[in-house]
Amino acid sequence: MRKVMLTGDRPTGKLHVGHYVGSLRRRVELQNTGDFDDIFIMIADAQALTDNADNPEKVRQNIIEVALDYLACGLDPAKSTLFIQSQVPELCELSFYYMNLVTVSRLQRNPTVKSEIQMRNFEASIPVGFFTYPISQAADITAFKATTVPVGEDQMPMLEQTREIVHKFNSVYGETLVDPKILLPENEACMRLPGIDGKAKMSKSLNNCIYLSEEPEEIQKKVFSMFTDPTHIRIEDPGKLEGNTVFTYLDAFCRPEYFPEFLPEYKDLDELKAHYKRGGLGDMKVKRFLNNVLQAELEPIRNRRKEFQKDIPAIYEILKKGSEKAEAVAAETLKDVKAAMKINYFDDMDLIREQSEKFSE
Ligand code: ATP
Ligand code: MG
Repeated sequence: MRKVMLTGDRPTGKLHVGHYVGSLRRRVELQNTGDFDDIFIMIADAQALTDNADNPEKVRQNIIEVALDYLACGLDPAKSTLFIQSQVPELCELSFYYMNLVTVSRLQRNPTVKSEIQMRNFEASIPVGFFTYPISQAADITAFKATTVPVGEDQMPMLEQTREIVHKFNSVYGETLVDPKILLPENEACMRLPGIDGKAKMSKSLNNCIYLSEEPEEIQKKVFSMFTDPTHIRIEDPGKLEGNTVFTYLDAFCRPEYFPEFLPEYKDLDELKAHYKRGGLGDMKVKRFLNNVLQAELEPIRNRRKEFQKDIPAIYEILKKGSEKAEAVAAETLKDVKAAMKINYFDDMDLIREQSEKFSE
């Protein structure tokens, strides 16, 4: 079977380090294995509009920001198709048909939608488009016959919803759609990276992010202000690792080679953690180490971004070409879907012949 990856991000801001460890880093690794027949990376502007309908300028301005972040992280347009969701109208058509296969109560039960509605204070005034975005996500995934979807943990309910739609569609209309698999980060810390404030998830909407393009001084300021263990007051006090954002970030970003480089008195992260738990290790020392780690990880990304920023028209051209390719692929799937649903009247010679015979009897 063909191996196809699809994933994407909403252009509601620049991408942050949560995106990086949750999905982006893995996409680039997978891209570079050469194992995939096709890779589609989508800037989900139509989805961003479902909760930003009154702010189209924000979405418009952030398309290029997301594209720059992609290229800076190493997504390569020669290997991966980078495209803009709204430029592939077939996705809307697929969503429209999938809507018949999902109940309102099933959408109401979706835990991600539930918590996002709460976060946005929508309460009784939920836009229908926002409420149904899990269906539109199923259209995005199935349109490209994706087999692999690398995403953070918050996307698990979306993938479940997609798989239900695939099974329902295939059982009603015959085997047509491909069943996708979610690919979660291998490391607990990366599943759902907390914000610098210690809140459950780093998210553009919560204003608790370190952005991939952040300048060094800003990174340091954010790391130094990070939430740690509030009961660890004096250096000699024993410290807790659970809920300690600085250690969660080290779990997500630290590589073995950073110890000899930045903190040679410790062998590895386990040794550092043991000392913190025992007491005698101050927060500032750990924060300084984390700052060095993050600076080392983000510097090459920031520098590449600055290179790509020199030719913005070339990036729009990449997105235009990518969107054209994506549309061609989605159109093929839509054709299969319409044939399966028996709404391909003019392509179906048998139908026309049968009807002719029926009326000539
Ligand atoms: P918004 O607040 O507009 O929803 P967001 O920061 O949640 O933005 P999305 O565009 O919704 O970002 O998510 C894009 C991808 O990044 C998804 O695969 C999601 O799982 C992943 N992701 C986002 N935030 C995190 C995080 N804090 N930890 C791990 N993965 C994340
Ligand atoms: Mg989100």
